[in-house]
Amino acid sequence: MFPEYDVIVVGAGHAGCEAAAAAAKMGSKVLLATMNMNTIAQMSCNPAMGGVAKGQIVREVDALGGMSGIITDQTMIQFRMLNKSKGPAMWSPRAQSDRMRFAEAWRLTLEQTENIDFWQEMVSGIEVVDGKAAGIRTSLGITIRGKAVVLTNGTFLNGIIHIGEKQLGGGRAAEKAAKGITEQLVELGFEAGRMKTGTPPRVDGRSLDYSRMEEQYGDENPSKFSYTDTVPLQQQRSCYITYTNTEVHEILKTGFEKSPMFQGRIQGLGPRYCPSIEDKINRFADRDRHQIFVEPEGWNTVEVYVNGFSSSLPEDVQLKALRKIVGFENAKMFRPGYAIEYDFFPPTQLNLTLETKLLENLYFAGQINGTTGYEEAACQGLMAGINAHNKINEKEPFVLKRSEAYIGVLIDDLVNKGTNEPYRMFTSRAEHRILLRQDNADIRLTKLGYDLGLADEARKKNVDKKIEETGEIIAYLNNKPIEPGEINTLLEDLGSAPILEKQRAGQLIKRPNIEIEHIALAVPSVAEYLSKFRADSVEQAGIQVKYESYIVKEYSMAAKMSELENYIIKERIDYRNIPALSAEAKEKLLKVNPETIGQASRISGVTPADISVLMVYLGK
Ligand code: FAD
Repeated sequence: MFPEYDVIVVGAGHAGCEAAAAAAKMGSKVLLATMNMNTIAQMSCNPAMGGVAKGQIVREVDALGGMSGIITDQTMIQFRMLNKSKGPAMWSPRAQSDRMRFAEAWRLTLEQTENIDFWQEMVSGIEVVDGKAAGIRTSLGITIRGKAVVLTNGTFLNGIIHIGEKQLGGGRAAEKAAKGITEQLVELGFEAGRMKTGTPPRVDGRSLDYSRMEEQYGDENPSKFSYTDTVPLQQQRSCYITYTNTEVHEILKTGFEKSPMFQGRIQGLGPRYCPSIEDKINRFADRDRHQIFVEPEGWNTVEVYVNGFSSSLPEDVQLKALRKIVGFENAKMFRPGYAIEYDFFPPTQLNLTLETKLLENLYFAGQINGTTGYEEAACQGLMAGINAHNKINEKEPFVLKRSEAYIGVLIDDLVNKGTNEPYRMFTSRAEHRILLRQDNADIRLTKLGYDLGLADEARKKNVDKKIEETGEIIAYLNNKPIEPGEINTLLEDLGSAPILEKQRAGQLIKRPNIEIEHIALAVPSVAEYLSKFRADSVEQAGIQVKYESYIVKEYSMAAKMSELENYIIKERIDYRNIPALSAEAKEKLLKVNPETIGQASRISGVTPADISVLMVYLGK
């Protein structure tokens, strides 16, 4: 009934969609097996892509040739560049998405991608031949052979939904839980754990009084995610802001005795930075209000997402409390909030390619690895899809360094440090974040995506042009003399000291509150010169000139770190036989089995002294 596939992807969430698209575009014959084809690329929680550090990841996925950025651009209803008042390392694109259109656009994209077949069914096990993954087994008893298997089960493995005292088996509201895979993998020697996450109620927008809330507009000149020729939004939908109050909190407290979290029925750890409303009022008892973002779920639907009000309290308590929020007095609830517990596999069981250490040709990507978030899932899916394709074609593994991409940071953290609570990305996790900006993901990664056979010729030409133009503009700025008479009025207006003799434009841009646009505004010849170039090249040149010294310093730090990465540990070492290593280092090194000294150095509990011992042992 089925041919033998190159890559079988299990699950069509954000990880699975990127994995399937990447492997197929690179030339693999792919089967995407998922429980419900109507929920392909479903946004389980908030209808939004990007945000702080997550937006950078979407840009990186796009730069490599992934699809999440394009789909987000095609289906967003609002765009904001967050943190614009901070330095460019912090600028983070965020889009409010049309949930239904997002899922539809992904599905149509996958249908139009050559080399992808679909199969709707629950996958209940992995076919193992000669100690390697060789396909899948389904709940109908069908075996489908594949050279590599990518598991992206999200929150579905033995999922249990909690609403008050009620417990329902399910992978997401109204969807079945997945059974069989965890049990089989544990039998094969994998370690599994339990995590939880939660979601807020959705309400009927027609029942809300927006006039009593604060309107939150999109950016005046919205940007976008993809480096391709997608078009920025011409019109946008607003979100709204309101607040809880003490009355809301008191009502919520009446549900605490039925709370699955407080009564100990939920064992798994939840996302620390995305707490439920009951968790917030419990932990921050002195706060008399919490912010609520009221977010439309699409262009036309009346459904509204109540961001900040995640809850697993009984549904009647949720509704009663909601109606005490300003603007929500007559709110009608479409769906209650809930919490979900699910299995995950501690990611220290993976290689940096996301292939499992225990079972060759089996890859894990997304929430199954203990992460949370669409963006974190999408980038892992992309990397697993690339690596599965490369492995079966005997090509080199594709691993990104921490200094090259947030994706590199994420995977390195997961594999080396593991996680016992849902892992989400933050800019603070990236030590080289000044290099990992959303504005330069294409410069960092598109050539790599092109060499892999994933990013197409048009992307490559696009970034080549940007690099060329940026270089030209930088040279110009560093040479262009500006006379005091041309700029001093503007400097004074901006609170910057006047210049006494001519200065290069590049020097002026290095001042704290002077940007390239300011110089162009004051000096017509600069404006005329810059008008010949693309806006993204001008922006790039401005950033590179302004932050030159930081960027140069960071590159040199990254080069030092990468020397350690070049020390590859070829042999499988029994670390117990190196007496000078600390007991903790022996245990952790044995568990992680690092591929390089650099990777060893980042394992928590492995000290610089342990690294010196290891270097001596390896004769370095
Ligand atoms: P998913 O998007 O979950 O997709 C899994 C896919 O696999 C689905 O298509 C499913 O049908 C399929 N599947 C699973 N098992 C099988 C099987 N055995 N056979 C066939 N198909 C299978 N993220 C945040 O960042 N912040 C939040 O606040 C947040 N809250 C959440 C609340 C809830 C209730 C849920 C469910 C998720 C929440 N998330 C949140 C997480 C976010 O939805 C996920 O991180 C993201 O969707 C993970 O993507 P994924 O591709 O790994 O898995």
